[in-house]
Amino acid sequence: MSTNAEYGIFSEAAGGCIYAPCHSPEEAARERERLITEDGEDAGDLTVNELCPDHEEQPKHGCEDCATEENAS
Ligand SMILES: [Zn+2]
Repeated sequence: MSTNAEYGIFSEAAGGCIYAPCHSPEEAARERERLITEDGEDAGDLTVNELCPDHEEQPKHGCEDCATEENAS
């Protein structure tokens, strides 16, 4: 259900999710702007991704935990 989708802000430099959850892409975009303007985060380093519904702080596309489970079974 896309209405239940959650979004997170990911930092390549930090190696993962630095802010979650947001409940809409618009909310995530606002928080991303806030992190850049208030916390001095690098705009080019922060990306918004839909979160994996099964794992916290993992992107839906490219979730490492999902990949691990698929390989284990
Ligand atoms: Zn997952």
